[in-house]
Amino acid sequence: MSRPGSVIVTGGASGIGLAVVEELLAEGWRVVAADLVPESVEKARAALAPHGDTVRVVQADISDEAQVVKLVAETESGFGPLWGVVNSAGIARDIPALDTSADIFRKILDVNVIGTFLVAREAAKVMQARSAGSIVNIASVSGIQGNLGRAAYGSSKGAVVVLTKVLAVEFAALGIRVNAIAPGPVDTPLVQAVHTDQARTAWLARVPLNRYAQPKEMAGTIAFLLDPEKSSYVTGQTINVDGGFTAGGLIRP
Ligand code: NAD
Repeated sequence: MSRPGSVIVTGGASGIGLAVVEELLAEGWRVVAADLVPESVEKARAALAPHGDTVRVVQADISDEAQVVKLVAETESGFGPLWGVVNSAGIARDIPALDTSADIFRKILDVNVIGTFLVAREAAKVMQARSAGSIVNIASVSGIQGNLGRAAYGSSKGAVVVLTKVLAVEFAALGIRVNAIAPGPVDTPLVQAVHTDQARTAWLARVPLNRYAQPKEMAGTIAFLLDPEKSSYVTGQTINVDGGFTAGGLIRP
């Protein structure tokens, strides 16, 4: 299928971001995967090599404004017109509120909120010339409900939900849609690092589907939100892709 341009996927070297890159390539998009960690970038470059020049994997820190400006400018000028962005780069910590320092809180906001904002803003600056584009952010069920240990992370993801609405309203006049997904627990390196066995049991007790998602189970909804034909009237929404987590109350006898 012919696609209207290229897509930047931040955090594209791991977890949900990498699964999205693979899905978009399979759907015929040209993709720039951007990630912070050089080793992950190298690994993803090797894994995606069979896709040839339809994919680029680059190193970039989305919390650094100058690097974001460069990422978007180089994608637009060297890789075809920019159609879309998937803001999957993010960091998480599970820390009781009483132990959460201002530094940790700021770091999480810096990446998850300001980084997401910077990429969306710079992308919109170039997309507006064509009055077309789609931006997909990754929030979390922890940005919708209060989860233990998530004062900083949950606040950052709640901010992503509202940021998605504000940008959808402002960018509608530019022809750009902005949406988000809110995943429940997904088996990725991020979650494997923060979920102890005890935490895993506690999360599963709240998930009607009774399992963690695989990263590729996020990719279909994200691809739908990027698609200019399938989701052309959807903007400002956060879709919970959470195995029923946010629907449930008492879910098992
Ligand atoms: P992951 O750790 O596998 O992938 C995140 C990637 O983002 C990593 O490769 C990391 O290097 C990159 N990254 C971190 N900081 C960056 C920065 N400053 N600049 C560029 N890249 C950066 O984690 P994941 O689980 O795939 O998470 C992807 C997104 O989904 C995150 O925003 C996360 O908060 C969100 N999320 C994940 C889950 C889950 O259960 N895994 C649930 C809800 C939301």
